[in-house]
Amino acid sequence: MNADTNPNTHTNPSTHTDLTPVTVIGLGNMGAALAAALLDRGHPTTVWNRTPQKAKALVERGARLAGSPADAVAASPLVLACVLDDDALRTVLDPLAESGALTGKSLINLTSNSPEGANAMSAWAGSHGLGYLDGGIMTTPEGVGNPEMMFLYGGSAEVFATYRPVLAALGEPIHLGTEAGLASLYDTALLGLMWATFTGWLHGTAVTGADGTSATDFTAVALRWLNGAVAGFITRYAGQVDAGRYPGDDATVDVQIATIDHLIHAAADRGVDNALPELLKATMRRASAAGHGGDSYASVIEVLRGTAQGQGQANFGR
Ligand code: NAP
Repeated sequence: MNADTNPNTHTNPSTHTDLTPVTVIGLGNMGAALAAALLDRGHPTTVWNRTPQKAKALVERGARLAGSPADAVAASPLVLACVLDDDALRTVLDPLAESGALTGKSLINLTSNSPEGANAMSAWAGSHGLGYLDGGIMTTPEGVGNPEMMFLYGGSAEVFATYRPVLAALGEPIHLGTEAGLASLYDTALLGLMWATFTGWLHGTAVTGADGTSATDFTAVALRWLNGAVAGFITRYAGQVDAGRYPGDDATVDVQIATIDHLIHAAADRGVDNALPELLKATMRRASAAGHGGDSYASVIEVLRGTAQGQGQANFGR
């Protein structure tokens, strides 16, 4: 279906184009940003939200406000959903699925969920003849529409190929594979990386700040370290993890255990909380105790996986 064959897309002449009509369900902070990015690209955009007042600004920009979820879904071949969670989405879509209104449509679900939740949504969609992609949005609303921001997708390769040009309006679309749960799996793993990085950076900011360095000055140096050397270490260690061999030809785990004590002492002297470096040191010590003292830092993965010799499941509480 395209704009020329779907009468529902002709309701607002100011938005009529040859671009794919899209329906957006959910106009919270993120859903509204998604709809705005589609309008910016000229897509005929139909919106629906439980609280219709939130559509006002989008309607002023050319969106069509649907009176019901059924009206919204009927308007476009592609439905983007971004609500609180999958339970909320099922509350909206279940009645339509039962009536057959979803059959032949494609649903791209940008609601956050777990990998298992995404796979369950994919199975539900498949059982109702609905093409399905699950998405992970790797930005906040103000980054939507910026081609440098990643949008991760898992699920139907056909839906991804068909609607890739639409998805490019939101950010860089990256298809991770045909399992729907992959987007959430990467999303959660990347958020873990982000929080660990944020906290390490803030710890360093507190330590240097105690001696009068501004956060801005420290960050200029920190970003050079992260983007240059640290990015290089991680790239090399990824190959070591994949090979299951950690040659210890740069800085060994035992050397890093000795080195982290300097950070712990510097922070303690300045009254800065040491929970994070203490956790990192304890993890390194477990790797060393399991025989990886002379190996590279990448060997710590054996502790995290619970596969280091002489240990059961990883347990940071001990
Ligand atoms: P939000 O501003 O709180 O909006 C929540 C949306 O869900 C609203 O449209 C709300 O409708 C709708 N909703 C909640 N319960 C509902 C129900 N039972 N039935 C129908 N609709 C319901 O949240 P948000 O920031 O837009 O986040 C939406 C999703 O995007 C979440 O899964 C979030 O994890 C994900 N996400 C957000 C960000 C971000 O930076 N904000 C980044 C990545 C991913 P009403 O307006 O009627 O309440």
